[in-house]
Order: sequence, then C-alpha cells, then structure tokens
Amino acid sequence: MTETFTPARPIWCAGCGDFGVLQALENGLNELDIPRRRAFVIAGIGCSGSLQNSLRCYGYHALHGRVLPTATGAKLANPELAVIGVGGDGDGYAIGGGHLVHTLKRNPSVTYIVMNNATYGLTKGQASPTSKTGFRQNIEEDLDPILTGLSIPGSTFLARGYSGNPAQLNRLIKAALEHTEQGRGFAFLDVLSPCVTYNDTYREWRASVFDMDEEAGYDPTDRAQAFARLQELREQGRLPTGLLYTAERPSLESSVLSTDHEPPALQDIYAPALMPQYQQALESFMR
Ligand code: SF4
Repeated sequence: MTETFTPARPIWCAGCGDFGVLQALENGLNELDIPRRRAFVIAGIGCSGSLQNSLRCYGYHALHGRVLPTATGAKLANPELAVIGVGGDGDGYAIGGGHLVHTLKRNPSVTYIVMNNATYGLTKGQASPTSKTGFRQNIEEDLDPILTGLSIPGSTFLARGYSGNPAQLNRLIKAALEHTEQGRGFAFLDVLSPCVTYNDTYREWRASVFDMDEEAGYDPTDRAQAFARLQELREQGRLPTGLLYTAERPSLESSVLSTDHEPPALQDIYAPALMPQYQQALESFMR
C-alpha cells in the first residue's frame, strides 16, 4: 500500500515552516533506509496534522491531543514499526500536555515532532501555550517544552530544531529516528516552525536561535548543566536549538513486552490451534 500510495501536495500556506519539517522527515527516513512499510506517522489536529498525507508512509489522524497514547499503543502492538508522532503546539502542549509528560516518563521508542508556531494556525491565530506574553492579549508566560522535558527524570532525548535551519533540522530528525530505531526510548523534538499567516516569527526566531551543538563544553548528557544553561539562555531571550539532552534508560517496550509471546499485531490470530480458546471465549459471553 505504501508503495502505490501517491502523496498529496501539502495544503499549507506558501512559506509555512511545516514544509521544512516534511522535507527533513522525508530525508531522515531515506538516509536511515527505513522501509516505508514500517513507517507509521500519527498526526494530531491542526495545520501540521495533514503532514502524513504528503509522505509515503502509513498514516493515522488521531483525536485532538491524543497522538502520544495512540503512538504508544501502536509501538507496543507492533514494535517493528517506526512510529512517528507529529503535531502542533496547540495539540501537543495544551490538550495533549498531560500525555506528553507521561510519555516522557514512560519512554516508548517513538519519535515525536512538534511543529511549534506559538499560535493556533488552523483556527486563525489564537494564543497557544507557547505564545509570548502580549501576543493577542495573552496574559500568560509561555511554556518551554524543553525545560518541561528536562524536569521529567525519565526523559532520554530532547532536541529543538528550526525550520529556517534545514541542515540542523535534518541532523536532529535523523538523530531522533536513530534513537527510536535503536530502541532507546522516546525522542522528543520541538521544531520552531513559523506560521507566516497568523504569527510570522521568522525574523524574530532567526535572531534568537542559539545553536547548542556548536557550544564548546556543553554536555547534553548532563541534566543539571542542561537545565541551568537553557534557563540562562531563556532569561536572555534566546532559543537554544540542537541536541539538548540525551540519556540511556530502558524503553517502555523492552520493559513490558514479554519474550514468551509475540506482540499483539504479530500474533497469528488465525492459527487453528487457538480455535478452542476462541470458542471458549465466545461461549463464555453467551452464558
Ligand atoms: Fe502554516 Fe499558519 Fe498557514 Fe497553518 S495557517 S498552513 S500554520 S502558515
């Protein structure tokens, strides 16, 4: 099916940052030679939620904010899949915020790319969790998804990219896919992806990004150092990008899947040997 499927042309506004993410994801899948029959992209609600329609892969459009529980379920049902969640900041950090926290805590080998434009683009530009104070009368402080991720002791991969820096974004998406392909857990990538129609931040973000991959002495395996340095940069109005934190700990699927049984999606449910058990189950419902 993934071989005969013709990807649709993206429906985004010209200049939308999501084009850069689509291209970098396509590049990452190609460079790692991940067969498209294994690529399963689960998208949230919002402009970015149509990304999977433009990529040769299996796709699923999840309920609002429910990308991550769906992706976790897919990974546990079939750990052979390269499961990739995509969505926006409204979907992932507002209604989906609780799921993000718990997915960081559970550490399934799933890649999650949030196209963060600091607004609700699809519904015409309301303030989102990452909008700056003052944007559309927003009275709240903006949420920092990477600092949130650092505060979860179970997190194993935290990175931030920028659509305006395609070379770095390619590297980060490839690194995130490698993390999950190697079964090392949850790879969370916040991508600054401007909405040119309702919150055109290209100029502001170009001036604010700070490439941590180039900072001498920065150790992305040191959580305390990462927290201190990223907080310091935030106070200076800078947006740190790059691989910001990485750690090693068991993935969810390595902890919960039994070696005695195939995962659910790989079981031969038509095996004749199982028929007596099916029959018994059916009869139990008819009693
Ligand atoms: Fe992109 Fe904004 Fe247009 Fe949506 S409204 S497609 S986020 S530029």
